[in-house]
Amino acid sequence: MDTIATLVLGTTNAGKLRELTELLAPLGIACCSLAGLDAAVDVEETGDSFAANAALKASQQARALGRWVLAEDSGLVVDALGGAPGIYSARFSGAGATDERNNALLLERLVPFPAAPRSAHYACHAALSDPNGTIVAISSGVCGGLIADRPAGVGGFGYDPLFIVPEYHRTFGELSPAVKALISHRARAMRAIIPAIERWLRPHQMPAGGQ
Ligand code: IMP
Repeated sequence: MDTIATLVLGTTNAGKLRELTELLAPLGIACCSLAGLDAAVDVEETGDSFAANAALKASQQARALGRWVLAEDSGLVVDALGGAPGIYSARFSGAGATDERNNALLLERLVPFPAAPRSAHYACHAALSDPNGTIVAISSGVCGGLIADRPAGVGGFGYDPLFIVPEYHRTFGELSPAVKALISHRARAMRAIIPAIERWLRPHQMPAGGQ
């Protein structure tokens, strides 16, 4: 059955949006991005954890839009760097940060630790907010890996060309989107929150044109 758009994906990150749309497709619940939603706000990520920032993004956006919003906060946690860049992953290289600059800075920061294990993990925390801004469900997922000496591959986004998935001996930049959709931190967080999305959103779905 066709449905009206019900769930807003609270992100402007094109890489995340592409992956979230794919991961949620089996739900059959229509999703839309923030693009073109005039009431959308820029949510400041003032939380001190992935979970706190995911909740902020979901609830503030939901309240501004008066819509159901699914948001996530994610990042790369590198053991030799005491967990950096962590919640600062997107803005690691400062104002005007780009994926290329963030990756270059990550390699630079690891230079003083040539003998340290280059273990790391990606983390993703998701939050579902009702239109009043109340968080009704949360989830999380991690994906373990190693940081490469140099970038490899052009797939994915962000730190993916540097993130080696040990089981595949390849970076996410080299692996197909299908592999990432099976084992990534985001895939795991989405699989964990999908039952709640079903429970809360299914009753709100309406036939196309049936508003
Ligand atoms: P957020 O938008 O504040 O949640 O920051 C997310 C940032 O974490 C992205 O801009 C990337 O730098 C990094 N990140 C999160 N997930 C991934 C991923 O799946 N691949 C590569 N980088 C990621």
